[in-house]
Amino acid sequence: MKKRTILVSGASIAGPTLAFWLQRFGFDVTVIERADELRLGGQNIDVREEAQQIVQLMGLENKIRQANTGELGVRFVNKNNQIIGSFPKRNSGFGTAELEILRGDLAKILHEATSDNVDYIFGDQITALADKEDMVTVTFKNGPQRSFDLVIAADGIRSTTLTLMFGNEPVIKYIGVYCSYLTIPRIESDTKWAYWYNAPGSRVINIRPDNEDTTRTSFSFLSPDSGYEKLSLAEQKEIIRQKFADAGWQAPRILTALEESKDVYLDRISQVKAPRWTKGRYAMVGDAAYCPTPMTGMGTSLSIIGAYILAGELSRHNCHKEAFAAYEKLLRPYVEEIQNLPPGVPWIAHPKTKFGIGLFNTVLRVASSKIANKVSKLFTGKKEKIKKDRIQLPIYK
Ligand SMILES: Cc1cc2nc3c(=O)[nH]c(=O)nc-3n(C[C@H](O)[C@H](O)[C@H](O)COP(=O)(O)OP(=O)(O)OC[C@H]3O[C@@H](n4cnc5c(N)ncnc54)[C@H](O)[C@@H]3O)c2cc1C
Repeated sequence: MKKRTILVSGASIAGPTLAFWLQRFGFDVTVIERADELRLGGQNIDVREEAQQIVQLMGLENKIRQANTGELGVRFVNKNNQIIGSFPKRNSGFGTAELEILRGDLAKILHEATSDNVDYIFGDQITALADKEDMVTVTFKNGPQRSFDLVIAADGIRSTTLTLMFGNEPVIKYIGVYCSYLTIPRIESDTKWAYWYNAPGSRVINIRPDNEDTTRTSFSFLSPDSGYEKLSLAEQKEIIRQKFADAGWQAPRILTALEESKDVYLDRISQVKAPRWTKGRYAMVGDAAYCPTPMTGMGTSLSIIGAYILAGELSRHNCHKEAFAAYEKLLRPYVEEIQNLPPGVPWIAHPKTKFGIGLFNTVLRVASSKIANKVSKLFTGKKEKIKKDRIQLPIYK
């Protein structure tokens, strides 16, 4: 029997994970990536919960462990660098995960695991799609027109493929916080802990270790939707300078490094909400379909879980319509649970006044105390069980 052909758009996390499982289940897979080469940028990301089980099944868990950033957990500090609360790494919920890795390292591992059996095309993108019921005709920016049985968008929150497939159906919902990431030189006092500092005016600075002898930092601040993400790099640097000039703690050090930094990235933190993830011979997966925001710590894990389930259901059903329906049915409650940010997020984590910060710090002090940890484990343990029952990760053969 002729192999079913599938075109996947996007070679970051969701795309190569989907390609891995599709080729294992006997599909003929092509991945197209707009960038000229694998994009290796980005900071610390987590592989959590069922995603860890999936990378185990892929035989990649050890490689991910070897590339671990070594982060020990998160410490909240005040302006005098005194530790207010320490949260050692754990495998669910907030903070450092057991499998913590730089995004670029994970993208590389996934690409290496698939490049022998998947056809990768870099430096091209889909410009037109025609679903002809028995196949999809695809027009590319550079290459010749081709046909595929199915086309799947795995090309992130700003996917243009998605618009070709679903028009303006998916909504990008801004959650009220901007975040800027940059890599800075490591200094001796940087440890293997991540640090979180709240400055008055709803501003947060994070410092995190990596495995490359540099230090990863981020600035986040509450703001109305201001279009900062569309500005030039020089303009974005100016916005960050203005916002954090008087923030205290390690702001002067990071702002000095900002001048020279080439990997500064400023974006509005948003969720993707889509009423459906499949249509005819089209589907979407990962951030393109259901970005939950980095604030959930689950963006990468959700991409891995979604890609595994989509590939698995396609292997179970000869009819793609049945597979797509099963993918939506199985995954949607889990996605909704993750996208449902706790009340007060992101405002609670970005208190405006000194009083608010004091209150936040008191809560952290209590939450990180040994007794509170023991009590909260009882509750988190219970919650995790409920979540696991809900997703019920199928084992596909
Ligand atoms: C360079 C980069 C850096 C990142 N850094 C961080 C970070 O520091 N922290 C964090 O929490 N998350 C970061 N992310 C997002 C994170 O990777 C995702 O939230 C999560 O892993 C889900 O991944 P995804 O594969 O669904 O989407 P993404 O990781 O967003 O990947 C989408 C891929 O599709 C490609 N693409 C986009 N448009 C097209 C098109 N039209 N045709 C073909 N290809 C296209 C992109 O180049 C990219 O490779 C980053 C993403 C990228 C691409």
